[in-house]
Amino acid sequence: MKSMLRIFNSLFLWELLKGLKLTGRYLFKRKFTVQYPEEKAPMSPRFRGLHALRRYPNGEERCIACKLCEAVCPALAITIDSEEREDGTRRTTQYDIDLSKCIFCGLCEESCPVDSIVETRIYEYHAEERGDLLYTKEQLLAIGDKHEKQIAEDRAQQAPYR
Ligand code: SF4
Ligand code: SF4
Repeated sequence: MKSMLRIFNSLFLWELLKGLKLTGRYLFKRKFTVQYPEEKAPMSPRFRGLHALRRYPNGEERCIACKLCEAVCPALAITIDSEEREDGTRRTTQYDIDLSKCIFCGLCEESCPVDSIVETRIYEYHAEERGDLLYTKEQLLAIGDKHEKQIAEDRAQQAPYR
């Protein structure tokens, strides 16, 4: 009986008709695909992309070299060195993030007491050599400077949940 059913199904292309029925059902439904890179999918303000270091509006670096982010990073991706300035404040002399180790967990930004290290919405970056994924303090500050407006808006939106 089973083999008869199989022959009947093959003869009348039953599986094909089932497939076409499914195709037909989705043909006029709203599409989920976007024409990337011209179109972009909506993104949460909590998206965890490329890191950035922020400054205060007067241009002063926010980071106070407390090293909490370095201590909390589960991937040991952050390397910080620091020194005391003449005015008695402490600032970093080195702040590196090795993105080949980073797992984008967001713990560094959550631990930062001064909102200095943040993860931005940037995901369109690449590296051709492993060393290109080692981001230095200067690079991270430059990313922060360039995207400060978006970063500040995203942080303001997240504020009620933090
Ligand atoms: S996102 Fe997570 S893994 Fe990446 S640097 Fe921050 S704490 Fe480390
Ligand atoms: S980025 Fe934030 S947590 Fe990390 S050393 Fe600087 S102030 Fe501390």
